[in-house]
Amino acid sequence: MQIRVRSGGHDYEGLSYISRNPNFVIIDMANLRSISIDTNENTAWVHVGATLGQLYYTISQESRTLAFPGGVCPTVGVGGHFTGGGYGMISRKHGLAVDNIIDAKMINANGEILDRESMGDDLFWAIRGGGGTSFGIVLAFKVKLVVVPETVTVFNVSRTLEQNATQLVHKWQYIFDKIDENLQVRLHLRSVRSPRDGKRTIQVFFVSLFQGRVHDLLPLMQEKFPELGLVEQDCTEMSWIESTLFIAELRDEPLEVLLNRTAQNTPHFKAKSDYVRRPIPEHGLRGIWRFLNQEVENQAELQFSPYGGVLSTFSESETPFPHRSGNIFIIHYLVMWDRATEAERHVDWIRRLYSYMAPYASKSPRAAYFNYRDLDIGMNNEGNTSYKQASAWGFKYFNNNFNRLVRVKTEVDPSNFFRNEQSIPPLSSW
Ligand SMILES: Cc1cc2nc3c(=O)[nH]c(=O)nc-3n(C[C@H](O)[C@H](O)[C@H](O)COP(=O)(O)OP(=O)(O)OC[C@H]3O[C@@H](n4cnc5c(N)ncnc54)[C@H](O)[C@@H]3O)c2cc1C
Repeated sequence: MQIRVRSGGHDYEGLSYISRNPNFVIIDMANLRSISIDTNENTAWVHVGATLGQLYYTISQESRTLAFPGGVCPTVGVGGHFTGGGYGMISRKHGLAVDNIIDAKMINANGEILDRESMGDDLFWAIRGGGGTSFGIVLAFKVKLVVVPETVTVFNVSRTLEQNATQLVHKWQYIFDKIDENLQVRLHLRSVRSPRDGKRTIQVFFVSLFQGRVHDLLPLMQEKFPELGLVEQDCTEMSWIESTLFIAELRDEPLEVLLNRTAQNTPHFKAKSDYVRRPIPEHGLRGIWRFLNQEVENQAELQFSPYGGVLSTFSESETPFPHRSGNIFIIHYLVMWDRATEAERHVDWIRRLYSYMAPYASKSPRAAYFNYRDLDIGMNNEGNTSYKQASAWGFKYFNNNFNRLVRVKTEVDPSNFFRNEQSIPPLSSW
């Protein structure tokens, strides 16, 4: 029987709870979700069934100045997120989730429970970004907590094409991977109907977190990006934990909403990712606008998240997550729809957009983010898969780290007990 391991259940292709092979079992980790914080050594043991929201909330109950650099969606599970990378609004300063893991407990294919010492360096390396399911079932992670200021500043301002959005996005690409690592300014781009004349336009949201006070943010923005015209009224000072609500668009909710495990009513969706190493020219951006305007308004979104900062100081092979120096930003493509019968049209749209983006994306390989799972880039056979076949998707997610992941897999799970459509194959299987 195939085994599917589910922690938060947010896998984009549902690999934690569905299988083409009807003989499968789901191991649901949701009840294994305790968290213990040690404020003396600024660490936490987090069980995999906890959500990011629960982790952030629990940290905030101990300290206003401790935090963790994980993703922005509170209902995402620790198990999938931490084994696949994990980046968020403070990652330019503090790294990814995987950069802050210092120990783990997992069950291997022989049913043994291992910790960092007994699993050895290779396996401990592999589960920090190479995906958990290929190697076993992770039970818990020990993480370093990071220190943030008592007060941070957030803003979310938007500009339409009529307000120079094309030029702003173009310039943004030259600035925000190099700017002070305390500042993260990500873009959400959507097609909307203008309230003025009812015509379609592109609206770009500049969604930002600054680890500092507004009086330090404004001169920085004025110096580096005066074109946005950011003013004090656009900015709000708050604690880091409040900023997690702001960024998750839960601003008016009480902190306890972070403990809610149920995702907001998510319709059907398909997502993809790309890395950008050279700025996209303005005519390339205008092509993206044409694609966005073809979709139902507000139902498709592109997110541009800048990298750089501390993310670039790690070598490509330090963890399986290879997207380090040289990447200006990641693109997250997303399209949603309401009725299952509409799937084909929307999936076709996102695939066409992805083809259009090829000249502007990273090449050889065209890199993708493992946590934004996309079976379009290649998948395994139902049974065993050759190294060659798995290379189709493996190098995109992991670049040369794929080879080391295959070696680790061959050593720890040669019979391919743990497998799915995009699990690392052992060499013996072919
Ligand atoms: C709304 C939304 C927002 C997101 N925002 C971000 C973001 O800001 N930053 C970011 O980096 N990512 C983000 N993601 C992507 C997210 O990190 C991945 O989808 C992640 O894999 C989800 O983890 P999960 O535990 O919820 O999912 P699951 O579906 O439970 O698991 C995902 C994969 O990991 C495996 N797995 C799960 N638990 C274990 C375990 N204990 N041991 C071994 N293998 C395991 C599963 O089998 C599956 O293959 C977002 C996703 C969504 C849906």
